[in-house]
Amino acid sequence: MIAENLKEVRKRIANAAKRTGRDPSEITLICVSKTKPLEMIKEAYELGERCFGENKPQELRDKAKELTYPDICWHMIGTLQKNKIKYVVPASVLIHSVDSVELARDINAEAGKKGVIADILLEINVAGETTKHGFLTSETLSAVCEIARLENLRIRGLMTVAPDTDDPEENRPYFKAMRDLLVDINSKNIDNVGCMNVLSMGMTNDYETAVEEGSTMVRIGTGIFGERNYNKI
Ligand SMILES: *Cc1c(COP(=O)(O)O)cnc(C)c1O
Repeated sequence: MIAENLKEVRKRIANAAKRTGRDPSEITLICVSKTKPLEMIKEAYELGERCFGENKPQELRDKAKELTYPDICWHMIGTLQKNKIKYVVPASVLIHSVDSVELARDINAEAGKKGVIADILLEINVAGETTKHGFLTSETLSAVCEIARLENLRIRGLMTVAPDTDDPEENRPYFKAMRDLLVDINSKNIDNVGCMNVLSMGMTNDYETAVEEGSTMVRIGTGIFGERNYNKI
């Protein structure tokens, strides 16, 4: 099942890229393995995948300890609380879900303590949903300026979880807004901010639209590993 799913997902990413004149290699597939067993991750790894996304810090840490392939990369994509930062720095290559300046400060402190630079994305609540984490579009530029001063962090780009919908076209304007926001931030040449070139957007329901609108990282769980059963874990 995973082999077929992966083949399909890769094909759809490549086709979406080509439709808009992009090189498919610009898009990194993050296989979202939360709640899924190690065997499934191993299978995806053996099929050539290297990037895996987890949303629970301890689960990420535990899986990273078990699967010691030298080139496997763990992405932290879920809500992060201060007392759990230690589990994902430096176990994850990229923290997608930085949703406050305070959290950025705490990650900076942990990175300093461990002598590493932490790569982060700022999570954007692009649709302004009351139930969602993240910076509002209007707050983002000033947040980037503040976070840029933290010496152990590198802001690599932006991430969003678009509204849950059956019609991906409904999310197209949000994906477009994300890309515009990134372009706008990059145009300001903010001190201590290199080129922010990561746009983490697109999930099982809407990744093709996200790729058409400039996504560079799609986070796909269900479309690769099947439905999650939260009762079983
Ligand atoms: C679970 C999750 C995903 C993957 O969702 P699917 O719909 O299963 O592809 C992507 N991003 C985040 C932040 C998630 O928590």
